[in-house]
Amino acid sequence: MGKENEACVCISEIRSVIQSHYPVKAAEDWDNPGLQLGRKEARVSRVLIALELTRAIVDEAIQNGVELIVTHHPFIFKPLKAVTTDSVEGSMLLDLAEHRIALLAAHTNLDSAPDAINARLSDMLGLSERRIFLKQTPFVAYKMIVFVPEASADDVAKAMHEAGAGCVGNYSDVSFVGKGEGRFRCGTDSHPAIGVPGSAECVAEVRLEMVVSARDLGRVTKAMLAAHPYEEPAYDVFKLESDVRGMTDQYGFGMVGTLPETMTLSVFIDHIKKLWDIESVRACGDPEKLIRRVAIMNGAGAKYYNMCSDDVDAYITGDCGHHDFDNANRRGLALIDAGHYDTEKFIPEIIKQVLDKAFEQRLEVIISQCMKRPFCVYS
Ligand SMILES: [Zn+2]
Repeated sequence: MGKENEACVCISEIRSVIQSHYPVKAAEDWDNPGLQLGRKEARVSRVLIALELTRAIVDEAIQNGVELIVTHHPFIFKPLKAVTTDSVEGSMLLDLAEHRIALLAAHTNLDSAPDAINARLSDMLGLSERRIFLKQTPFVAYKMIVFVPEASADDVAKAMHEAGAGCVGNYSDVSFVGKGEGRFRCGTDSHPAIGVPGSAECVAEVRLEMVVSARDLGRVTKAMLAAHPYEEPAYDVFKLESDVRGMTDQYGFGMVGTLPETMTLSVFIDHIKKLWDIESVRACGDPEKLIRRVAIMNGAGAKYYNMCSDDVDAYITGDCGHHDFDNANRRGLALIDAGHYDTEKFIPEIIKQVLDKAFEQRLEVIISQCMKRPFCVYS
């Protein structure tokens, strides 16, 4: 735990700063950014930043007396069945918890932010005439309409909001409530909250409407059913066409831009290797092909090569496979796999700058010395 002095910062404050730059609503629906372990009210004075959590980074955090680790890749991603020493993951989390080290992630919410990694890579390459490579996909949202007896409406609404319903742009706890009559006949084997089995009822109810993201739909449905007094609550769920994410056009993945000078593919590859300090890259395309306009996407962007418009000469990303290169060759696109790690290793510096600027001397922000790509290249 942080020392109780003025230098300490509440974890919720750090989370707010990170999420004001990288809003969670900008994350992909499948993602899991945010506070993953720890107490949001805990106060910390030293933060360690890394690309992802490894055993070495857990040890580094313990040795350095760190109270919060911020990573890019969320460590808790798929549901965990147990947190015990029977698994490596469980042991790592227990070590963090026992040393009161919290864990926070900023993943695709950072990838898609306008002033984050793709802007940094583009700045390093000196790209001009920039545009976002892949605009943020429309937010998959649903409208949930539930009919609740008037007396229980506030409780049901509260439960749904707490589960994530009713977020529209920068507004939360958004709902619509209309009054009406709920009519039903209780079955002879029913156990009604209002009325008696076999009788027809007319109850003063409200129609409660909220927007729910695809990510929160299961959780909101469960919370609504638990809070609803009826044995068989009546509710409707519709998929929406409208985009309630409230993001500006500046959000999206990757960047397209023009190099300061045209160069051949082989020269461009040397340039990237030097500029980003990369040992080796894998690439396809004629080494003499002239490269002027390029697309960049940090991390695992191989599957988006076919989103390159015709004016893009080269696409730089990570995690490219055999078939990605084969397809790119057919299209005449120079596909450059600069590595998932090497296109993301600048992210900790970006997060550090954000935290240093927000908290200055109140927080010591250190970048992990144990970050490395999770494999070696033998050539
Ligand atoms: Zn990544």
